[in-house]
Amino acid sequence: MDQDQEKNHDVTWREAAESPASPQAAGNVSPVTAGQAASENEGLGAGSPCPGQPRDEQVVSPPNCARLGDGPGIPDTGAAAFPTALPNGSRIRRRQLLKYGGMALAGLGAAGLAVCAVYRGCASSGFGGLDLGAGTDVFPGDAPQGELWQQWQRRGWVREARHYLPLGRNVQCRLCPNDCLLQPEDRSHCRNRVNKGGKLYTLAYGNPCAFHNDPVEKKPLFHFLPGTEAFSIATSGCVFRCLNCQNWDISQRKPEETKDPRGEAVRLNPEQLSLLSRRDVDRLSMFPEDVVALAEHFGSRSIAYTYSEPVAWYEYMMDTACLARQKKIKNLWITCGSIREEPLVELCKVLDGANVDLKSFDEGVYRRLNAGRLQPILDTLKVLKREGVWFEITNLIVPTYTDDMEMIRRMCEWLVANLGPDYPLHVSRYHPDHKLTHLPPTPVEVLLQARSVARECGLRYVYVGNVRGVEDAETTFCPNCRRPVVCRDAFSVLSMDVADGKCKFCNTEIAGVWTA
Ligand code: SF4
Repeated sequence: MDQDQEKNHDVTWREAAESPASPQAAGNVSPVTAGQAASENEGLGAGSPCPGQPRDEQVVSPPNCARLGDGPGIPDTGAAAFPTALPNGSRIRRRQLLKYGGMALAGLGAAGLAVCAVYRGCASSGFGGLDLGAGTDVFPGDAPQGELWQQWQRRGWVREARHYLPLGRNVQCRLCPNDCLLQPEDRSHCRNRVNKGGKLYTLAYGNPCAFHNDPVEKKPLFHFLPGTEAFSIATSGCVFRCLNCQNWDISQRKPEETKDPRGEAVRLNPEQLSLLSRRDVDRLSMFPEDVVALAEHFGSRSIAYTYSEPVAWYEYMMDTACLARQKKIKNLWITCGSIREEPLVELCKVLDGANVDLKSFDEGVYRRLNAGRLQPILDTLKVLKREGVWFEITNLIVPTYTDDMEMIRRMCEWLVANLGPDYPLHVSRYHPDHKLTHLPPTPVEVLLQARSVARECGLRYVYVGNVRGVEDAETTFCPNCRRPVVCRDAFSVLSMDVADGKCKFCNTEIAGVWTA
């Protein structure tokens, strides 16, 4: 995520070491006993069946949340089986060849018949499409090795991934349209996945580098249980490369750059809160049951998967969301929206709300600014609507990249035509960060112009974000009587005249999720 609302002001490994950031981080070191460490290794995540999940739709269905430190299933394969010192050009050609070759193998191999059917299904679905020439950059031979790999396993921070194709010694991830093809010991584009012994593993499980209890309005979600809090977590990693990312210090990092597996294990749950030192944050574990327990402890109505891109840590999000659903805690996905249909449909079964960044309405801008694609995001929005998940949309206006009013008009016309007028649009102000520090903040008049365009196109709920002093920037108006029904300021609800999802003045329905 790159929108300012979701800028990671929370407890991160770095902040925790430097500042008294949060009540969670107060107190002393919490030594974890051998017994606790063992329990960590058998803990959560280790098998959290989620009722209704279509396991048979997975391309690869590993044991759901393999036990921490499952030795036999997670081989330490040592050096890369493929040479990694090839010139870049050779490497790329070889990869593209492997992509095509992988398809043929999957279709012809005896064990590949079922895989091929799924593959063809994906290809013919039109969802995101198979972009075999996408040329996603991966990190050749960059998987953790030796002692580091073993420590990562002992901490329980390794899990076999979901939604991937085994292609002999190679693997192809099928979570997002990047379609990373990994040779042995390669690391994925999102930095979180590695090929070990012909299996795909995530390194981002139970090891958040940021967590905080936020107002749900900060996500931003204005029509979802206003005034409640969302326990928010993130690991490192992202499927995009946004030049303007506000959270680049976690989104563009490997898990090993945000977490340290050395020393005693520290597991954060409500019992350990008062004992936790800020120095522990970079090595603490927080498995799905801990996340849910902490959300309950804080009285959070929802858990938000946010700050970085949760698709990059899909397994951790899914297992946590399943447990949260059992405890009647809502699940919120704050995302760039770049995901394949099959994992998205699976996610929707446990999802209650989402905020999707629609970063622009131009494929060329998506490529230049985000190293991403527009069409998969539009597909995601349609699937969310089809699956009945409430969502809101954020459009960050970056000067010279996404401030073209004609493009914004085309975007709003598409939203109304394809999704209807009721999904809120947050027009958000850019602030200089990451690789675009030379650009100024978005002028307020440009934001107001965009709001006018969106309203002219027929969108009923349009907000202006990341800026103070703009009249009615965060106010919800009844689309019928035009009276303000929810007034907000800086993520706080000042007044609410919505009852049972209807305007108190004229009884008109206000779109959103207003009751649990
Ligand atoms: S989720 Fe990560 S590994 Fe999978 S295709 Fe996307 S960028 Fe590649």
